[in-house]
Amino acid sequence: MKKREMKPFKETLIALRARLRGDVNTLANAALSNNGNSAGSSSSSVPSHIADLGSDTYEQDNTLLLMSNEGEVLQQIEDALERIEDGVYGTCNECSKVIPKTRLNAIPYTPYCVKCASDLESSGY
Ligand SMILES: [Zn+2]
Repeated sequence: MKKREMKPFKETLIALRARLRGDVNTLANAALSNNGNSAGSSSSSVPSHIADLGSDTYEQDNTLLLMSNEGEVLQQIEDALERIEDGVYGTCNECSKVIPKTRLNAIPYTPYCVKCASDLESSGY
């Protein structure tokens, strides 16, 4: 994959990482508030009760993500970002084949192609 093609994935990964870490001042947060409540508020003078609502939603979202694989996902995101820096992102760690973009869109931090992921899973990974 070309560096230029990796860029959107890199941004997604950074946003995901920020979300998992619970960073506040990030693009991820901006994206979240766009998705969730508050239709188009410009984030400055937000009344505190609305801010509380927002953080509840945020918390739940975060918990959901964390519950899926906990810190493992965070580690995979770090690894994926490293692979982007190395220019090898989008290649399966196991069989060195190209991971389809549809898969990367769904799980941008996956280090494996579909086949290897299911092989590893069935072998108790
Ligand atoms: Zn593979």
